[in-house]
Amino acid sequence: MSTSLPWQAEALTFYTNLYRQGELAHGYLIDDSPGDGRANCVRAIAATILCQETVTGGCQTCSACKLLSAGSHADMLWVAPEGSTQIKIEQVRSAIAWSQKTPQQGRAKVLIIDPAENMNLFATNSLLKLLEEPSGDTYLFLLSKNTAKLLPTVRSRCQILNLTTPSFSEGVEWLKGLHPELKPESLLTIYELSGQKPQVAKDIIDQGLTQFYLDCVSVLGEWIAGNTSAIVAAKTLHSKEDLAAPYDILFRATVFALRSSLTAISRQSHGFQVLVEGLMRSTSPGRLIALNTRCVTYKNLALSDHNLNPQLTLEAFLIECYRSDRDLLVQA
Ligand SMILES: [Zn+2]
Repeated sequence: MSTSLPWQAEALTFYTNLYRQGELAHGYLIDDSPGDGRANCVRAIAATILCQETVTGGCQTCSACKLLSAGSHADMLWVAPEGSTQIKIEQVRSAIAWSQKTPQQGRAKVLIIDPAENMNLFATNSLLKLLEEPSGDTYLFLLSKNTAKLLPTVRSRCQILNLTTPSFSEGVEWLKGLHPELKPESLLTIYELSGQKPQVAKDIIDQGLTQFYLDCVSVLGEWIAGNTSAIVAAKTLHSKEDLAAPYDILFRATVFALRSSLTAISRQSHGFQVLVEGLMRSTSPGRLIALNTRCVTYKNLALSDHNLNPQLTLEAFLIECYRSDRDLLVQA
């Protein structure tokens, strides 16, 4: 069972107290956009509810906590797509039937639907009944990576589970604790490139992509300065393990460059700062916006099923950027 993350401690205490006071709502919607580990906090709240001692995050020693750790607690149901991308009506119907039974282990049951936006229309309509007439001992958590895709009727019937995002230093310190072997500068660069999303940064490091990301930053900097051709740059920037990385990195750099043109930002790692400053020198804010959009377009193209050669797509992207987004007047 995963535990909540340091920056979620306050929220976990808050919702634990609500539960102990009998004031926890029966339906919550959680914006589970990738990177902050919000599902961890939901798991910890679920553990609190199911723990026989109602210990925050679970005591880990009672029989309920042990069953939960083993994934065999009868009062915990996690509904996810099965055999397709959709959560189907049969799954929601059986979850509703389950919610109407008496808890087998303790006082309450926890139902999690993840990702809620993957419920098809029939499943969603079926769930509305449960949201309108919740079973008194069932707590429902809807995890969603894109809450805008949920029907307004679902959103309006749920409370929002308020979870904070980590501060810059909280995220960096957490990563340092997990990866003390990394040089501080490298760790800082990866954290910047992740969009300051701790889980995303952790995934990059855990997948052994740290050096590749650092190389991408360096090569993109050289390419922007005009010291490397698109063809040579594409060779280094191309990796079968992560086709999206060069587009994501340049996207992130354009965002920082745009922000830096409005207000002084000085916390980037040195390597990333060089890339951002290079962008600011070689193009105008208007073209930065165009470049930002082009990064998204080409990333989608690179990840699509069109059977395009990824390295040639990257070359085409770099050549087009250089022709279209480079502001020769600013450069001169
Ligand atoms: Zn326990």
